[in-house]
Amino acid sequence: MAAQIKPGPSSNHDKFNSNRKPVLLAKLEGCSDHVNKAILIPETDGVISVSSDRSVRVWLKRDSGQYWPSICKYLPSPAVDLLYRPTTRQLFVGQENGTISEFILEEDFNCMESVGDILAHYGRITGMIWTEISIDGVLEQWILSTSRDKRFQYHNAKTTNPIGPPFVCTSWCTSLEYDLESAHVFVGDYAGNISMLNIKAEGLQLVTTLTGHTACIDKLVWDSSSRRLFSAGHDRLIIVWDIGGGQGTAYELHGHTNRVTSLAFVSAKNLLISAGEDSIVIFWDLNADRKETPPWAESDNCETCSRPFLWNITGIFERKQFGSRQHHCRSCGRALCDKCSQDKSTIPSMGFELPVRVCKFCSNNIDHTPMAIFHDAKHSVTSITMDLLRKCVLTIGQDRVIKIWDVSTLI
Ligand SMILES: [Zn+2]
Ligand SMILES: [Zn+2]
Repeated sequence: MAAQIKPGPSSNHDKFNSNRKPVLLAKLEGCSDHVNKAILIPETDGVISVSSDRSVRVWLKRDSGQYWPSICKYLPSPAVDLLYRPTTRQLFVGQENGTISEFILEEDFNCMESVGDILAHYGRITGMIWTEISIDGVLEQWILSTSRDKRFQYHNAKTTNPIGPPFVCTSWCTSLEYDLESAHVFVGDYAGNISMLNIKAEGLQLVTTLTGHTACIDKLVWDSSSRRLFSAGHDRLIIVWDIGGGQGTAYELHGHTNRVTSLAFVSAKNLLISAGEDSIVIFWDLNADRKETPPWAESDNCETCSRPFLWNITGIFERKQFGSRQHHCRSCGRALCDKCSQDKSTIPSMGFELPVRVCKFCSNNIDHTPMAIFHDAKHSVTSITMDLLRKCVLTIGQDRVIKIWDVSTLI
């Protein structure tokens, strides 16, 4: 067999060659187990991180330019999630055992005081949101939370008492988002469903279930200004749900080759940032005109050459042709035989930034200009968080390294 030089997986090189690139500012290392979440402390050169080694760390930038821990506190169980309120310096840490621990950070970030625990769940905390709600004219502070115990629950942050019965999913609850204005909660689960709940005075009401993902939902992000929900999951897919915009559309974004673990949204720029286990960070321009993917046509014969499909016994017999497997053009949705759908192409307007199967006709009529910028983060990313004021993104890798990037050229 003759030797061949095949183009490598980086044949989409042009996507990576943008002049607008994140610039690595700092690396934080030292955790002895997975880092589960980390955030940049607003208006301070500091980072808070939680890790499976049970530690809560506060890192401050030193004169050397490097970040070193000023606080390292160990909890009874692995620390898996964190929620920080800059105005009050309240820090809530979700644990593997289902407890949410509250702390207050000192002004100089060199010390933190324990406030108390909410015994919220029986399993790993997967999402926490702090909110203030007026009940009969009295302001109440609530902590909304999800867990691998399959429950969404809300507690009074002061008394630590649960409010109302929980919402119980059929699988692990894996992500949480909340629309303050309409008091709607979005709960993503391990099966790929998103339950939309309404918090009412009389309790929780299931409004609808959003189905579109086929595997665990790792991240939900809500944008209140455009009333859109962004979801990402193990099926490598990102979906943009138009919840309140009146269009009822759901766009798909395909660009990752492995699980999408995290999302961040820059509302002012209409820019979605996604990251995943393929080590790639993608900046999606949502100002670009996007179309929904078409439904797949059902047919017994190829819609171009009329070749019968495998199950069309009558057609195979009458035309004396072998049956073909059925494929679909991702651009027009027509049912086609393999021969009539051999082209591979990106379809940026439908969110396909990686080549997919298309028919000959569509192949010649697609605008291939990318609508996303790709960046190699050089480590499999488990979480990203955004600091809009400083125009920085923080990524956490499976290598336990936290990286801070300047993304000012992109946002
Ligand atoms: Zn055909
Ligand atoms: Zn087509």
